[in-house]
Amino acid sequence: MSLPVKDAASYRDTISIVNNEGGRKWVYPKKPKGRYTNARTILSVILLAVLFGLPFIKVNGHPFVLLNVLERKFIIFGTVFVPQDFYLFGLLMITLFVSLFLVTAVFGRIFCGWICPQTIFLEMVFRKIEYIIEGDYLRQIALNNSIWNKEKIFKKGIKYLIFFIISFLIANIFLSYIIGFDQLWNIINEPVSDHLSGFIAITIFTGIFYFVFAWFREQACILVCPYGRLQSVLLDQNSTVIAYDCVRGEPRGKIKNKEEQHLGDCIDCKLCVNVCPTGIDIRNGTQLECVNCTACIDACDSIMDSVSRPRGLIRFDSMDRIKNSINSKISKLTPRVIGYSSVLIILLIVQTVLFSMKKDLDVNILRTPGMLFQNQPDNKVSNMYNLKISNKTFDEMPVNFKLKDSEGEIKLIEHEINLKPLEIHEGTILILIPKDKIKLTNTPLNIEVYSGDKIIDVVKTTFLGPQN
Ligand code: SF4
Ligand code: SF4
Repeated sequence: MSLPVKDAASYRDTISIVNNEGGRKWVYPKKPKGRYTNARTILSVILLAVLFGLPFIKVNGHPFVLLNVLERKFIIFGTVFVPQDFYLFGLLMITLFVSLFLVTAVFGRIFCGWICPQTIFLEMVFRKIEYIIEGDYLRQIALNNSIWNKEKIFKKGIKYLIFFIISFLIANIFLSYIIGFDQLWNIINEPVSDHLSGFIAITIFTGIFYFVFAWFREQACILVCPYGRLQSVLLDQNSTVIAYDCVRGEPRGKIKNKEEQHLGDCIDCKLCVNVCPTGIDIRNGTQLECVNCTACIDACDSIMDSVSRPRGLIRFDSMDRIKNSINSKISKLTPRVIGYSSVLIILLIVQTVLFSMKKDLDVNILRTPGMLFQNQPDNKVSNMYNLKISNKTFDEMPVNFKLKDSEGEIKLIEHEINLKPLEIHEGTILILIPKDKIKLTNTPLNIEVYSGDKIIDVVKTTFLGPQN
């Protein structure tokens, strides 16, 4: 069955937010209400509480979550990742992406409507404030078209002031994920001159969030978001999306005498279009602009209730099930779903194994580049090594070294190494071996790394010596 659009070819030639002259078409969505909107509101409150609450949570005095990209230090649910763990962090990101691809292939763009911070902030925070101050969409249009009188100046002024304050709050929370709440607290409480870079960061983030939520809005989802633009390759006819039941709804038409007119259930009231925050008509089929916000489902259900027809003319369903009038809600196990699931399972297994092998201390010992062996007193030969140790725990760690199965000694250039929590230490060590014990020009060595009496790691390296 072909799509139920009047001009099926033409609606994909344009995007909903661009007018005929190529300019921005401002979207004024009607305020949505209904069971899905209520469910999304509850979920949004929970997610916002988590987002705003996480930076305050500490475990044993340390952040529960920290995404310090500047120092490449990450703490995710209490687990520390330092630069040496980047392969693990990268793998975690790949796993998340594959999970997202799988969820999209099965449930469509559900992430956008229910979890994405952009949608949550725009639809559940900024848009709700707009409705409170300026009223529903028709009042907003009227206000925008009116001359600048006292009412307009007051409403616009108060709205943008509140938008700015919320953007400032989001900027602070965003920064606290990067530098930690303690550091943010210092920026807030101490003179600006002591934290100029932090102050500049807050100002820039506030400006970006204000720009996005006060003006840029749905363009972020339609024009910028890479996930949104990938929909055409991630979805197929079997994906559960927000879909209009064209079999049941067409031919659409105003109610006069349904039986005589032989019309479908769509009464062409266009309420589903009026509530859409991206300005599309979902009856044209799945479109990249759709963020799965469910507003059109609630709108259409309310219309179906009022004309005593069954709900669900617009609903979560796949085009395959709609076109073939399949009642089951169970998604087909397509090759795409099997493929994504297989890759995800492999990634999860690899990730689990690598996580279980993750060490508290990351030790790197490399012979100093460009240096050969040095002859030392007492008929000994020495090699110099560069040392890099990362403490991946929140505990202090004293570190010392021993040669395994080789006669010789290890001298620290500095007196002792006592790593602070999460410290990365770089230094130099000297290994000395009696000349008569050196049998090869390039002797393999194993260096045992101890913290107190506990062996933490064994590092392999080589020792250059004179030819015998
Ligand atoms: S089509 Fe429906 S679900 Fe998609 S963005 Fe518009 S209102 Fe939301
Ligand atoms: S809200 Fe329902 S009945 Fe009204 S135009 Fe949309 S699909 Fe048709």
